[in-house]
Amino acid sequence: MEPPCIPGHEFYGEVVDIKGEVPGIAIGDDVCAEQVVPCGHCHFCRTGKYWMCQRSAVFGFKNMPTAVLPSMSSCPKPA
Ligand SMILES: [Zn+2]
Repeated sequence: MEPPCIPGHEFYGEVVDIKGEVPGIAIGDDVCAEQVVPCGHCHFCRTGKYWMCQRSAVFGFKNMPTAVLPSMSSCPKPA
């Protein structure tokens, strides 16, 4: 494995843009996020059990300076 590379399934970064309203997160905030992106529409996603989503996607991060994520895949970074 050669750097730069994020080997885990979770990461953090700075919010540089927001589409729509995301309560508790603003541009410039540091957020933690997951590599798994749930569909947001199935029964499990609609009932808050997105980790059980059967249509989730996983994306890689090597040499990726930015990522576009749904709000359900990220949360404010703890202080
Ligand atoms: Zn889903």
